[in-house]
Amino acid sequence: MDKQLYMNGEMVRGEGNVRRILNPSSESTVATVYEASVKQVEMAIQAARDAFNDSSWKEDIEERTNFLLRIADTLAERREEFAVLETENTGKPIREARLDVEDSVNCLRYYAKLVKDQQIEETDQWDGSTSRIKNVPYGVTALIVPWNFPLLLGIWKIAPALAAGNTIVFKPSELTPLTMIKLAELMKKCALPDGVFNLVIGDGQTVGQTLVTSEEVDKISFTGGTKTGRTINEQCARTFKRVSLELGGKSPLIVWDDANIDQAVEWTIFGAFFNQGEVCVASSRILVHENMYKPFIKKLIDKTKKIQLGNPLKEETEMGPLISKEHLEKIESFIQLGKEEGATLEVGGERIGQKGFYLTPIIFTDVTLEMAIVQEEIFGPFCVIQSFSSEEEAIKLANGTKFGLAAGILSKDLARCERLADRIQAGTIWINSYHTPFVNAPWGGFKQSGIGRELGPQGLAAYSEPKHINLTP
Ligand code: NAD
Repeated sequence: MDKQLYMNGEMVRGEGNVRRILNPSSESTVATVYEASVKQVEMAIQAARDAFNDSSWKEDIEERTNFLLRIADTLAERREEFAVLETENTGKPIREARLDVEDSVNCLRYYAKLVKDQQIEETDQWDGSTSRIKNVPYGVTALIVPWNFPLLLGIWKIAPALAAGNTIVFKPSELTPLTMIKLAELMKKCALPDGVFNLVIGDGQTVGQTLVTSEEVDKISFTGGTKTGRTINEQCARTFKRVSLELGGKSPLIVWDDANIDQAVEWTIFGAFFNQGEVCVASSRILVHENMYKPFIKKLIDKTKKIQLGNPLKEETEMGPLISKEHLEKIESFIQLGKEEGATLEVGGERIGQKGFYLTPIIFTDVTLEMAIVQEEIFGPFCVIQSFSSEEEAIKLANGTKFGLAAGILSKDLARCERLADRIQAGTIWINSYHTPFVNAPWGGFKQSGIGRELGPQGLAAYSEPKHINLTP
């Protein structure tokens, strides 16, 4: 199938770059993708504009709710097909891809319900006049996502944007467009009005930049790296274009000496290496109380050596390959840098297998807060471990980077956990667990980890603005 863009209700063939999409496990071609030309991106924006202006979409909550429920049901029926395709495109273990599809279905259903529950306009009487306050959609939204959770991060934006009554031009990462192409093929079958959702594929410089700089786009919602987010934020500022940014992280996991050591090791491995560590909230900095430091490290290294790397389509696989050769080389360059900075590589960093971008999970010790491997987001199976001796020190280390996306605390002393949580600068803090996103709770970053929130009621509010209509009879 060479028709992979979706514009104004039709699948069409791209007229831009032609790109081979590789399976990161076998390095074989999964698909050849015909990307959008700049002209096609402009046509997609126009289709979204026309659909916003001319259709009943922005007014009709019933129509929007019904569509979201239909697409959720369709996705649920085809869950395995989507999960397998996601694994083939990203290299993530199939068990984790299945979770992504489940979470996507839940997110669609959540926003279908939320927008229905919230549809009542607020009214009030002041000085003989009546005020009506309603939330109105922005109009044309451009949604841009990265390659680590191509379907799920897409749905986190698509569901609330549609629920609020916007139209969409969606851009997946050029590396991972396949599940979104499949989703686009289902839009018409689920009776979405033409032009309400449009899919354009291509890289950031051509397709992404056309969306960001277009005067016909009212809102950008971007998930990706902090560096890209800064560029986009600066560009949007020129015309006060609305923008939400979900950016990078370097999240700490604090392990107190009263935590169960075996469970703490399990949570650390899950926090740091889930999805090959290619997760914005990955617990890439482990802060361990000095009383537990030595036995903890020993157990962690032993357990890390046993992580099953391999074909991500096999049920028993715990870690798949990295997304690309370039990404693998970037992580290797951080291993080299860590050694040059004087840190100790305890385990990992070996390429394995004849084919595929496999790298064994990496643990560094003897690090200091100033080192680049402690400060920079590496976005792979790479964690650094530091010890601390007091609450003050734990807080200083936890808050010691430019990021503020997430954090974890493992301890039996719940009062202390709450105290620490109150002082950690992060959008999400898990006490005695890690990683689970809750569809009804906000998700996003403090400091340079972003602006705005996804999920929960805040995620819906990100796609509309309040309008106050005051009537004096
Ligand atoms: P990236 O910033 O390179 O790219 C993200 C997306 O933006 C891609 O679709 C890309 O094509 C596009 N893009 C790149 N340059 C652009 C430009 N100048 N204009 C418009 N679009 C542009 O990030 P990546 O390497 O794909 O993903 C990894 C990053 O994403 C990490 O930093 C990670 O922390 C972040 N991330 C954040 C969250 C979150 O919820 N905060 C979730 C997942 C990933």
